[in-house]
Amino acid sequence: MLCSNCQKEEAQIHPLYGVMPGLACQKKREIQQSPRGYIEFTSESIKRDRVDYADDIIQPYRSGEVSKKYIQKYGTKGIEVTEKEIKKAMDNPDVWSGESNSYYRE
Ligand SMILES: [Zn+2]
Repeated sequence: MLCSNCQKEEAQIHPLYGVMPGLACQKKREIQQSPRGYIEFTSESIKRDRVDYADDIIQPYRSGEVSKKYIQKYGTKGIEVTEKEIKKAMDNPDVWSGESNSYYRE
């Protein structure tokens, strides 16, 4: 017997409910019936994007290194960095804005 929903897969026979849609369609239905989980997942990834890319939220550190953009915007007063770290950050290409750092290269 074929799945009543898609007519492509084998229907599942439930001991109580009889003929059920196939496994793929049952899974699809499960996902559709839990929109809450989907929304939470979405908002979670948006939150992460905001932290990474939003222009008004600049993190002082990125991948363990001091952010050049942060220093340019806020200075180094609020964060603990050594001069060496600052120099290293300023020598880095500005990966956030896509600006070239060719001026800084020797
Ligand atoms: Zn099906």
